[in-house]
Amino acid sequence: MSVTQQQVLDVLGKVKSPDGVALTHANVLSAVTVNDGKVFFSINVDAAQARAWESVRAATEAAVRAIPGVTNAMIALTAERKPGSPAAAPPAPHRHSHGVQPVSAHRPPQSPVSPMSKQSEIPGIAAVIAVASGKGGVGKSTTALNLALGLRDLGLRVGLLDADIYGPSVPRLTGIREKPQLDDNRKMIPIQRFGLAIMSIGFLVEEETAMIWRGPMVMSAITQMLRDVAWGTLDILVVDMPPGTGDAQLTLAQNVPLRGAVIISTPQDLSLIDARRGLAMFKKVNVPVLGIVENMSYFQCPECGTRSDIFGHGGARLEAERLGVPFLGEIPLHMSIRATSDSGTPVVDSEPDGPHAAIYRAIGAKVRDQLQGVIAAA
Ligand code: ADP
Repeated sequence: MSVTQQQVLDVLGKVKSPDGVALTHANVLSAVTVNDGKVFFSINVDAAQARAWESVRAATEAAVRAIPGVTNAMIALTAERKPGSPAAAPPAPHRHSHGVQPVSAHRPPQSPVSPMSKQSEIPGIAAVIAVASGKGGVGKSTTALNLALGLRDLGLRVGLLDADIYGPSVPRLTGIREKPQLDDNRKMIPIQRFGLAIMSIGFLVEEETAMIWRGPMVMSAITQMLRDVAWGTLDILVVDMPPGTGDAQLTLAQNVPLRGAVIISTPQDLSLIDARRGLAMFKKVNVPVLGIVENMSYFQCPECGTRSDIFGHGGARLEAERLGVPFLGEIPLHMSIRATSDSGTPVVDSEPDGPHAAIYRAIGAKVRDQLQGVIAAA
């Protein structure tokens, strides 16, 4: 049964704002997206009222999910500061395992909080780590997936969250086409593939829809993907971050309980500068940088195996040394990494005995070693 936008709007007309006004008349709704039984929209409210709206958000989501034919609903509460009003405080710790927290207005502005105190662990997950890059196109998602597989090969239980909401590439890299189902607690069940628990916003929306999401909504959706997903027991959850080091990334790094970050860079100077920004960003929110990976480090000829340092390789290693962070390894620019990525058969899984899989496993081992204490304690 296909759900229409009008059906959703009819239901929204029956849900009331904290002031008793129908949502459709409260001037708070974003465009409602209905896509193959999945419904997405945001409720945009003034930061000062965000707390009162959280129960409305939950009631709205329940009402939308009850529409026959709706298979999933993601409704984000975004709180915006009105011009001239005091700055909204940062979000509170996510104590509930259910529901999206408003993006702001949870604490009185006068109570200073350290970035770490905003985070709370996700039950069942020993360590959440971020894979980040200063800019897009450096191979961050390819590395995140193959790193997750390298960690899997080391005997760890691993999940992958594609939080690259502006351009989710995990559906393409994994070939996953199916949609996550809901469990009895109405949590999304991650897709199991290659022995990984995988979740991506791209499983739920078309790429174009994800692209137009605004900052606060991005955070809200990512929080929901972290906390409203039945991840099960994991040693490591690898989060493929959106590229860049802007506000959205900073908020994310502040709100996700990260045990560390891996920065992906290519050898070109420009992306090294961007990688430096990434380091500074994680430092600002007290997330330890587990190290830098140099991707597309050198060109390896698929025919003869000859190596050429066409990009002046080695910059990331020097930069890591200079900055005093670990250098995790260098990955060649190689046809089979690109081809396997683009065909949904990641190289660590499809060529497990090949040289590339060995490189990703070695990087994985360096990451694991730094998280050993946390994983063992869990
Ligand atoms: P990002 O997540 O940084 O935007 P992707 O992981 O989507 O980047 O990679 C961008 C493109 O580069 C993809 O086509 C991917 O297959 C390719 N790619 C990534 N890493 C390598 C590599 N080491 N060798 C060859 N191609 C690569």
